[in-house]
This record gives sequence, structure tokens and C-alpha cells, in this order.
Amino acid sequence: MNAVQPASLIATLAGVLPDGGLLTADEDLARYSRDWSGDHFGRPLAVARPASVEEMSALMRRCHEERIPVVPQGGLTGLVGAAVAADSGEVVISLERLNRIRSVSPIDFAMVVEAGCILEDAKRAAEENDCLLPITFGAQGSCRIGGNVATNAGGFNVLRYGMTRDLVLGLEVVLADGRVWNGLKVLRKDNRGYDLKQVFIGSEGTLGIVTAAALKLYPRPTQIETALIGLRTVEDAMALYARARRECSDLLTAFELILRGGIEITLQARPDFADPLARPYPVYVLVEVSSGGLVDLQAMLRDFLAGAADLVEDGVMASSRAQGERLWLYREIMVERQGRGGRYLRTDVSVPISKLADFVTDALAALERTRPDALAVTYGHVGDGNIHLNVVPPEGMAAEAVEHLFEEAEEQIFAIVDRYAGSISAEHGIGRVKQKAFLERIDPVALDLAAGIKDAFDPHRILSNGRILASKSSLDYR
Ligand SMILES: Cc1cc2nc3c(=O)[nH]c(=O)nc-3n(C[C@H](O)[C@H](O)[C@H](O)COP(=O)(O)OP(=O)(O)OC[C@H]3O[C@@H](n4cnc5c(N)ncnc54)[C@H](O)[C@@H]3O)c2cc1C
Repeated sequence: MNAVQPASLIATLAGVLPDGGLLTADEDLARYSRDWSGDHFGRPLAVARPASVEEMSALMRRCHEERIPVVPQGGLTGLVGAAVAADSGEVVISLERLNRIRSVSPIDFAMVVEAGCILEDAKRAAEENDCLLPITFGAQGSCRIGGNVATNAGGFNVLRYGMTRDLVLGLEVVLADGRVWNGLKVLRKDNRGYDLKQVFIGSEGTLGIVTAAALKLYPRPTQIETALIGLRTVEDAMALYARARRECSDLLTAFELILRGGIEITLQARPDFADPLARPYPVYVLVEVSSGGLVDLQAMLRDFLAGAADLVEDGVMASSRAQGERLWLYREIMVERQGRGGRYLRTDVSVPISKLADFVTDALAALERTRPDALAVTYGHVGDGNIHLNVVPPEGMAAEAVEHLFEEAEEQIFAIVDRYAGSISAEHGIGRVKQKAFLERIDPVALDLAAGIKDAFDPHRILSNGRILASKSSLDYR
């Protein structure tokens, strides 16, 4: 695959991009070599940084002709090891210089953004136009729009606004051979043949390089109300969710579950944070509703919680936006600090919402039975049936034993996911980390179709080879 050796590769690509477009020095490559989790490292052969679609197109044409393997890279916050270079040698294509907001139209409720734009910057541009770009999650200050499209990112607001897939109106994509597909449009309705953009969304950089996206916007909410609720069981949390969906109309924007262990991680990490409620509860949910100005949103949430007194043990409703943001910090700090600075097993699974409580009970019981030495951290976007059941090894455990623990725990969790007809990857994708489990489960017809799509879009398999499907050296992609 890697027919071109580094020195000639650099000479081949140097002529394609203007000065500063190709980085090759060790000290320059370091920041493109490790992802947010710190678990995945890959030193690229070089880093290409095209600053326009024309430069991207010329770059890919040359890579296609010379069979140079590449991997597109956004903000490196992906959690399945897909965006760092493979050991076999790849050129990283960073989108960071393609980062303009091309347009925002409050009348179309749409914006056109280049793929290297940081999500938070795109959200701010929407807000300046009195609109909301709904994609919201902890990494929004670092991840980029192209990464969000390529992973079909979810986040806190999916239950109201959908995944990234539901928010993309059009795409501009540079194909593996350098051709540019201009599918950028802001139409709400367009039934002209195949909807090609859907093939690229969630394809994790394996089918083309997204250079810009037309995204759906919503009216910017002028009111947001947040509450942190203490409950007895996950069953009660899911019963509360079902009621909230009905009684809060469509104004529910987030419903996040955190088990007590997660709150304790935040309390340990931040001694300045008090226990959020008068006493500890086994289960917590963060509930958020939002609306425009003509609704008494505060009264709605207060009345809803009062009417659910049979489920709600205790709770706090934020009295200001700042207090609401502080309640969210209990979750964000827990996410950052759960691994105690070391490695931990991340899972990102989904099951039918109706089965979520049973799934959590079964999975925690199985882990407790087989690995009582490990710490299970459980939280998630349960309004979407999506739960993260992460496993932290005991302190001081040897690296080999940690690997064994991760394998055993993951197998156990995935077997229970299968029992509930769920998904082993709800949001994060397959990349390289989940590939084995994915290929063990994929329907043979689906695999044939997926392999055919890959061949059609990237015949020389130079794009993100070995992510989702196995690398090209494996004839049947397994
Ligand atoms: C603290 C934290 C919280 C998170 N919470 C969530 C969450 O709630 N929901 C969720 O869905 N994810 C979440 N994630 C995962 C991650 O942030 C998302 O997957 C995000 O969309 C990745 O964007 P990125 O720009 O960092 O992409 P990268 O990590 O750089 O790349 C991810 C994948 O996309 C490909 N890619 C990147 N740019 C392009 C492009 N322009 N064209 C084609 N392919 C491209 C890469 O090759 C790779 O396969 C979280 C991550 C962290 C660290």
C-alpha cells in the first residue's frame, strides 16, 4: 500500500501545496499525532494543510495518482482511534485551515460552514444571527464540523433535534481521486434521486473528505431551564423521562443520566463542589427544557417536577443560567476525571429506550460478579437509549492485566447489548477500536454492500484505510 517512501513522498506533495501547506518536521507533527483520549498515537509521514477546496482537490488528485495513503483529521476528539495516522504510514490531512463560515441565513434557517470550523465557533455565528445550531457536547470547543459530519455526532440535544445526520442539508466533498462533489444546498425538500450526502455522513473519512457543510438551524431559545434530580432507580429515571416527553411538549432538550459513582468522581476531583442535593441518591438526571419567549417555561418545569413527586426524591432547579451551567459541570468534570488520569474502557452503546433500565441492571450485575475490583462509571444520553458504561481498572494494575480486564468487560457488556438487540456504537463510530466487534456482528449482505460502496468511492483504498472495514490487504474486508 505504502508504495511511496517518505523522502519521495514529501517531494511529491511539496509541489502541490503552497508554502506552509505541508509540515514534515518532527516538532510540527507532534500535535497531529495523539488524540484527545491519549490512547491513540500515530506519527504521520507528513501533515498536509490545504487552505482551499482547490488545494484539497489538487492534493487528493496527486495522492490518488501516487497511491499515497491519507487520513483526514479534524479536532482529534474522536474516541475510536480513527483520526491518527496508522502505523503502516499515512499522511494526515488537517482541515484546520479550511475554517470559514461561508454564510448564515436566518431566513433559510441554515448556515454554510467549512469543515475545519470549530463547532463552538459555528454555534456562536448562528447565535449572532438569532439562531441555534443544536449540536452540543463536551468537546465542542475542540471538535470541527467535518469531524461532526464524518462521525454523525450526537450529544445532549439529540432527543429534540436529532443527530448531525438530521441537521445536514448539503455537503461539499473532495473525493479520493480529487474530484469535487458540490452537494451544498440549503433546500428542505429535494427528492432528485439518491441522497448522496447520507453516504458521507458517519463514514469516518473512508469515502471522501468533507470540505464544507450546509447545516439546519433552529430559532435560538430565549429561555433555558435546568434541573438536577435525585431518584431511587434507573427504572424511575426512565419513567420520569417518559412523562417528561409527554408533559413538557416538545420542549425537552436534554435528559442525562448519571449514577451516584459519577457524582462522587466530581466531588473528589473538585473539593469546592458540594454534594448537589441534601443527601446522596443512587441515580441522578439532568433535565433541560428550552423555548422562545411566549411560554412560562419555569412554571412548566416546576409543575412537571411537582406532579412527578412519586418518582422524584429531591431536586434542584437552577435559578439563573450561570447556576444551570454549574449543574452541567457535575457531568462534565466527571467525564474528564473518570479515568483518574489513566486508561479506562469506554463503551458507547444503545438499546431500545424501553429496555435501558434492564440493560443497566444486567450489565452492572455481570461486571460486579466477574470484576468486582474494577470501577464501573455509568452515564449517558438516556433519552436516546444511549449509555456509556465505562470501566476503570484498579489503581496500580499491570498493563497486561488492564488489557485483559478491558477485553473481558467489553465482551460481557456487548453480549448483553446483543441480547437487547442494541448497538455496540451509538455515537462514537467504529474507527479501529470497535472494528473487531463490528465485523463479528455485521450482516453479510450489509458487509457486501459496504465493501461495494468503498470500492466505488475509493478504488485504490487510499482514504482512511482500515477504519470501519478491515484494511485493503484483507480480501474480504474482514
Ligand atoms: C469530552 C468529549 C465528549 C464527547 N461527547 C460526545 C457526544 O456527546 N456525542 C458524540 O457523538 N461524540 C462525542 N465525543 C466524540 C467526538 O467529539 C466526536 O466524534 C466529534 O464529532 C469528532 O470531531 P473531531 O473534529 O474531533 O474529529 P476527529 O477526531 O479529528 O476525527 C474523527 C473522524 O472523522 C474523520 N474526519 C474528520 N474530519 C473529516 C473531514 N473533514 N472529512 C472526512 N472525514 C473527517 C476522521 O478521519 C476520523 O475518522 C466526545 C468527545 C470528547 C473528547
